[in-house]
Amino acid sequence: MHSYADRHTHDFFFARDYPDVRVLDGIFARLRSEPHEKSELQKHLRLDSDLFEKALEKLWIHGGAVLEFGDNASRGQKEWRESYIAQGEQKRTQIEQMIRYAESNQCRMSSMVRHFGDLADAQQACGICDFCAPARCLAQRFRTATEAEREALFNVIAALRSCEVKSTGRLHHELYPNGQMSRNAFEEVLGAMARAGLVQLSDTNFEKDGKQIPYRRVNLTRAAHTVDKSTPIALIMKNTAPASAKRRAHGKAAFPRKRKLAPVPDMSAAVNSQSTSERPENGANSRAEAMLRAWRLEEARRRGVPAFRIFSGESGRR
Ligand SMILES: [Zn+2]
Repeated sequence: MHSYADRHTHDFFFARDYPDVRVLDGIFARLRSEPHEKSELQKHLRLDSDLFEKALEKLWIHGGAVLEFGDNASRGQKEWRESYIAQGEQKRTQIEQMIRYAESNQCRMSSMVRHFGDLADAQQACGICDFCAPARCLAQRFRTATEAEREALFNVIAALRSCEVKSTGRLHHELYPNGQMSRNAFEEVLGAMARAGLVQLSDTNFEKDGKQIPYRRVNLTRAAHTVDKSTPIALIMKNTAPASAKRRAHGKAAFPRKRKLAPVPDMSAAVNSQSTSERPENGANSRAEAMLRAWRLEEARRRGVPAFRIFSGESGRR
């Protein structure tokens, strides 16, 4: 039931919860060792209030700002930066892993067992997931392969006969150096081949500059070695909507997503449609918001904590 809209939802929350590190840099540069009013700081920096609050909260969590009673802020330690970037990157990696899991062409149960580190497991296919039993799928639709997809199948077999295992990106580049078949379409062919028992796919990582870069490997099964063009093969392709093929590149720097993301008002809208919808704004809502903000500030003073720790939706700093 995964679709591109889910990706959009996670990108939206990520962009909201992990502001660009330069926003935090800007705030940190303005903080002094003696406390100053937050509102003055925000006015000075001309930042949107939600963005300012979120960035200041992150600075506080990572030790870059000291906050008193919600209203005053002073400078913390300059070591906040590394920790903030590392946390954002870890979060981004988790999202990528989840998307890869959703789009993978391996037994779902085996993938999960591997993910949770059960090395003693026999890695037997479960027999009931969408990979193991596509014919029994309710949410996923399948179609027969086109001529170009069948041709790709034989190209893959020919290319893999001479080597044990290869990364799918490299194989795609070797077979289609001019992009005659898109990477996504190629991955779908490999998925169909895996369902037909001709190849095995496995997700793994390599380390580059201290970071884990995910990639997918493919190798032929024993059955594939006896296949030639006269072999009857049922190549069953996933019938994916065009939008789901728009896989984007992995993040590179400290949260480089600059695209303005439309608000996602609730999860059901994100799942059911790809259209963007606006948050309803009216007088009653803003009055209610103002009252809640005033109450929150009172409550923060009473408890002696920064205002954003009330109803923050996140666990506090340990
Ligand atoms: Zn399975």
